[in-house]
Amino acid sequence: MPYKFTFDLSRIPRFFFKEVARISYEKEMHKKVADAVQDIIRKFKIQEATGLNLADAVHLLEDLVAVEAKNLLEREKFLKTKTRALFLPHCSRKYMDNRCMAKFESNIPSYVCAHCSPDCLINRATSIAEKKGYDVFILPGGSCVSKILRLKQYEGVIGVACGEELKLAGEILDQMKVAGQAIPLLKNGCANTLFNFETLLQTL
Ligand code: SF4
Repeated sequence: MPYKFTFDLSRIPRFFFKEVARISYEKEMHKKVADAVQDIIRKFKIQEATGLNLADAVHLLEDLVAVEAKNLLEREKFLKTKTRALFLPHCSRKYMDNRCMAKFESNIPSYVCAHCSPDCLINRATSIAEKKGYDVFILPGGSCVSKILRLKQYEGVIGVACGEELKLAGEILDQMKVAGQAIPLLKNGCANTLFNFETLLQTL
């Protein structure tokens, strides 16, 4: 969990993310988003809703905007890719103890979902992505990204993680010339983290 603070945006209205997308587009146009980020924090009462202080809220929002802007830039290239992988965070599993039946493959390194719980977010994401031809990896940490990409080459990768980790992974993908799409976590932490399943469906 790279952020030194925890956040939960899962109850913020969907319109908030449209605003993030709009500002991200403007970032590409004007490269000045500081005022817009402060505006969106005030407008959606992000500090009140999440308990974040202003500096952390700005940090979080700037990362979300940067991630969304990179998604826009990479989207066309990503859509042309033929071999794709989906990287999911292990902390979004329904269970983090031995009730999770996933096997950990240390040589990859990735968990392999055993589909034990129909309502597990990782199970749902894995099932739909595999049907669409993705190789799915459930990562114990961001350092696994480059290890996996050295083991097997992909033209396109979708990653789900917190904004800070997504920015780091984006740099690795750039170096390896892999087209990336990123889905930020709505709720971070060491367990029960959340991402928006609809956003994943639209991105796949
Ligand atoms: S569905 Fe998969 S990831 Fe979720 S708890 Fe079961 S084995 Fe673990």
